[in-house]
Amino acid sequence: MIVLKTRHELGLLREANRIIAVILEEIADRIRPGVSTLELDQWAEARILELKGRPGFKGYNGFPATLCTSVNEEVVHGIPSPDRILQEGDIVGIDVGSIFQGYYGDGARTYAVGSVSPETEQLMSVCRESLEKGIAAAVVGNRISDISLAIDHYVRPKGFEIVRDLTGHGIGRQLHEEPQILNYDAGQKGPRIKTNMTLAIEPMITAGTWQVRTLDDQWTVVTADGSLAAHFEHTVAVTDNGPEILTRL
Ligand code: MG
Repeated sequence: MIVLKTRHELGLLREANRIIAVILEEIADRIRPGVSTLELDQWAEARILELKGRPGFKGYNGFPATLCTSVNEEVVHGIPSPDRILQEGDIVGIDVGSIFQGYYGDGARTYAVGSVSPETEQLMSVCRESLEKGIAAAVVGNRISDISLAIDHYVRPKGFEIVRDLTGHGIGRQLHEEPQILNYDAGQKGPRIKTNMTLAIEPMITAGTWQVRTLDDQWTVVTADGSLAAHFEHTVAVTDNGPEILTRL
């Protein structure tokens, strides 16, 4: 069942996701060569608490941290560590969740550490733009699969692959609600999009294969061929006037 949110719930989701927007904006200045992913995590946890939220991922299915920090070939769910020091030329995906009065916020961006190659810039920019295409399709009258198609049709001609094993999702009182939002065309029609749905749309694309595997830590998802991956995510509310991006300041 897809939960349509009340006006009150949308207000709480706006607050939860504003926290995410702040974190994703402010963390940009903290991402530089020499910083460890644990330092970023500790900063984010303190900042979320300051913003009157709680970390949304910490403890979720046993995840140990506030952020997922996924470096280079890591697609998602990387675990922050004092030993993972960001290097010039790396890219790092920061995925952050929050809870505000029982409602979840969720968003992600991939950042360059120092300067990166033009090919890497292109990977990140195509992923960022594919998210915008997906969001633009999140309108009443469309189907959820139209979001998938918009992402797929933008990414593939650019020569990148789309991760298939992980998807976007509805969000609200639960971090992951229906519907599942594929980032590729699976040849199926999804449910109709309705006003007051709240959706976390999150394309993950790679410079190589779409296939992924999970490391022995049981969390970190990496590309099967070691190619670079990018990940961008916004939580949006479907309104009568189009999609409202809740994770943007
Ligand atoms: Mg998500």
